[in-house]
Amino acid sequence: MKKELEALLAVQKQDLELKAFEEKIAGLRKHRETLEAAIAMEKTVVDDEKKQLDDLKKKGRERSLEVDTLDEHIRNDEKKIKEGLMSYKEMEAYRERADHDRKRMDHLEDEALALLNQAEAGEADYKNKEAAFLKWKFKIDAEIQELDQLVNQQRQRVTQGQANRGQLLPNVDPTLLKRYQQLQEDYDDPLAALRSSVCSGCKLRLSEITVERVREGNEIVSCEHCSRILYA
Ligand SMILES: [Zn+2]
Repeated sequence: MKKELEALLAVQKQDLELKAFEEKIAGLRKHRETLEAAIAMEKTVVDDEKKQLDDLKKKGRERSLEVDTLDEHIRNDEKKIKEGLMSYKEMEAYRERADHDRKRMDHLEDEALALLNQAEAGEADYKNKEAAFLKWKFKIDAEIQELDQLVNQQRQRVTQGQANRGQLLPNVDPTLLKRYQQLQEDYDDPLAALRSSVCSGCKLRLSEITVERVREGNEIVSCEHCSRILYA
């Protein structure tokens, strides 16, 4: 093989390696994103449950507060009835109101108790789910850290690869390099091997003349189908 092709082939080898590193990094990043999304989704579920529980507690507290207020009303009414400084009709009205308030208070007490019980049961359930979530998240976080380490490793390889490439470039003929870079816009492998009269890039059969010219190695020959630079 011509020496300039050999130098260019070394560059291509480096470029393909760099591309593989970049693809690996992209894959790792995608995996990381999937894990992050899974954590965010699970967190939403747990947070929603917490919110429902808090709402339940709030409702329970509100009912209890209503009970307290009613209790105070009833006491006031009873006090007034006891003092008896009113007409019979007024007293009857106070008694009626107190009876009504008592019934309502009983009802509210039941509601408050039911809400409290529900919140208590929900709390236990929530604690279990939260613990399970945190345990799971701990594992996923570790996995994410591992992915970050792998990305860093690949990045170091990219840096090293780019340095290697920089060292290889001066060995390549500038005109040939330019052609290589133009072809790189279409192909990962602008340099293709001649394998039993077939271009290893496009897999098409080459004419006898082309094959002969490549084998002779006196000039730079391109594939007549895909324009890749051929080497024997
Ligand atoms: Zn070809």
